[in-house]
Amino acid sequence: MIKKSAANEKKVLIDASCIKCEQETLQTATYAGSYLKRLQCEECGNILETNKKELVKVYLDDFMDRFLLLPYELKKEWDRDGSINFIHDAPVKGINMFKKEMCGLSNLLMG
Ligand SMILES: [Zn+2]
Repeated sequence: MIKKSAANEKKVLIDASCIKCEQETLQTATYAGSYLKRLQCEECGNILETNKKELVKVYLDDFMDRFLLLPYELKKEWDRDGSINFIHDAPVKGINMFKKEMCGLSNLLMG
C-alpha cells in the first residue's frame, strides 16, 4: 500500500526487522522521492530515521550525477524533438526541473 503525504513524499507498508521487537514486523517506510527517510514499526512504534546530513549529502551527490548528464539528455531531446520544439520548450523544462529539485531538497530538510 502506498500513501502520498507531503509533495514528493510517500509512505509504504513493508515487512522488516525491528530492533526493539526483535522480529520481523509490519513497518511504515517514508520516502522523500527515492530516498528512505524513516522506518516506523507498526507493533511498538519504534522509529529509525536517516541522519539528515547524510540524506542531504546523498541527495546532492545524486544531483551532481543528474547535472553532469544534462548535456547528454539535452542532446537526446534535440535529436528527438528538432530545434524549434526544443528551443520553445527548453525554458519551461528548465524551470520545472529546478522546481522539482528544490521540492525534493525541501522534503529532505523539512520532514
Ligand atoms: Zn517494533
